[in-house]
Amino acid sequence: MQRTAEIAGGGIAGLSLGALLARRGWRVRVHEQGEQIREIGAGIYIKNNSLEVLEHLGVYERIRARGTPLAAAQIRFADGSVRQQRALSGTSRVVTFARQTLIEGLRDAALDAGVEIVTASRATGLRQQAGGRRALVTADGQVHAADLVVAADGVHSALRTALDIGSRFRELPTLIDRFLVPTRVFTPEPRTEEHWSGNRRIGVTPAGPEHTYVYMVAPASDRRAAAIPLDVADWSARFPRLRELLACLGEAPSTQYHYGVVNCPRWSVGNVAVLGDAAHGLPPTLGQGAGLTLMNALALAEMAGAAADVPAALQAWEQRVRFISDQTQKWACRYDSFTRQWPTALDFARPLVAWSFGRFRFLNDRMRIADRGLRLAGIRVGAEAPPC
Ligand SMILES: Cc1cc2nc3c(=O)[nH]c(=O)nc-3n(C[C@H](O)[C@H](O)[C@H](O)COP(=O)(O)OP(=O)(O)OC[C@H]3O[C@@H](n4cnc5c(N)ncnc54)[C@H](O)[C@@H]3O)c2cc1C
Repeated sequence: MQRTAEIAGGGIAGLSLGALLARRGWRVRVHEQGEQIREIGAGIYIKNNSLEVLEHLGVYERIRARGTPLAAAQIRFADGSVRQQRALSGTSRVVTFARQTLIEGLRDAALDAGVEIVTASRATGLRQQAGGRRALVTADGQVHAADLVVAADGVHSALRTALDIGSRFRELPTLIDRFLVPTRVFTPEPRTEEHWSGNRRIGVTPAGPEHTYVYMVAPASDRRAAAIPLDVADWSARFPRLRELLACLGEAPSTQYHYGVVNCPRWSVGNVAVLGDAAHGLPPTLGQGAGLTLMNALALAEMAGAAADVPAALQAWEQRVRFISDQTQKWACRYDSFTRQWPTALDFARPLVAWSFGRFRFLNDRMRIADRGLRLAGIRVGAEAPPC
């Protein structure tokens, strides 16, 4: 009999898992609360682990012309000096996109695989059914029974809350503003740069042939940094070398976001799985939220896709892959603390720390474990996982 999945959330998690399961013969329905499938935010770094999944889904081929494969990443201080430089190749490869490009690629892959996407459909909870399985409940009062129900509804997941497993979302005192600027004038080279000045940072990177993605990070307590519209004069005083770029941002639409962390003690209860930011929301300091999401979606589809016992497969899935998300979340939080809280009196030592993270492979490998995540978790792309 055909297996069924009801998925709450039409973001990166819901669409990728939907496509992966449908390609394995499942009947899948994705409920998205918004009127359409769209991403909030500007650009996105897609790293090796994400790329492996996107290649497997055929999504990368569809969207590659609208992305920028990056050659290098730099950390620069406000005086322009380069304090860290990393080549981005092999398992460190990174391609940047406008976010909407990625989500549309995933949406199209899901539709092609036969996924039913229902927009304006908000998941509100779960209902226990005969046999111990839980069904998805939507705001229109409908109860959707399925072999697998997935909470892919983001950091504030309603379904995760309904599971009542002691999960927690914690806001961190860091703000990020994101812009997508329709020009490559400021980013002619395929290189991402993060500029540091005290505890403020500005990231500048090309995102496809026509766009530059800019993010600006500061402690939430820094009121001038948090101002909307952007206080161009104040930011320019801190980053004089970026003055021209900052002048372009003054009028541009931006999204402001508070860093946050999700603690989710378990990723499944019976036939309900928690996936993506709902399971492991983390500060975007390592550019790996979508990477973990895609990787975990692939592993879930591989491990539960053909399993006779879905709840057991979900437990095995968490045991297999979770350590990578946990470690990445820990390092993403450390990176945030390091850049936000570094005392001014110790500013002289910051270049050394920045340098050592670029220089010493063992530090880099730990912090960026997710880049090689599929291999470390023993998930072979496109292959059936061993039965659990
Ligand atoms: C500032 C910032 C920068 C980032 N940069 C990167 C990066 O460069 N690289 C990277 O890999 N990751 C990055 N990330 C992380 C990445 O965006 C997330 O990890 C990823 O979007 C998670 O996808 P998701 O589908 O789990 O959640 P979401 O993207 O939040 O999607 C959840 C979806 O569910 C819908 N929804 C919510 N509640 C309900 C409900 N009750 N019923 C139905 N639908 C619902 C929402 O409308 C949304 O469409 C960044 C994140 C932030 C905040």
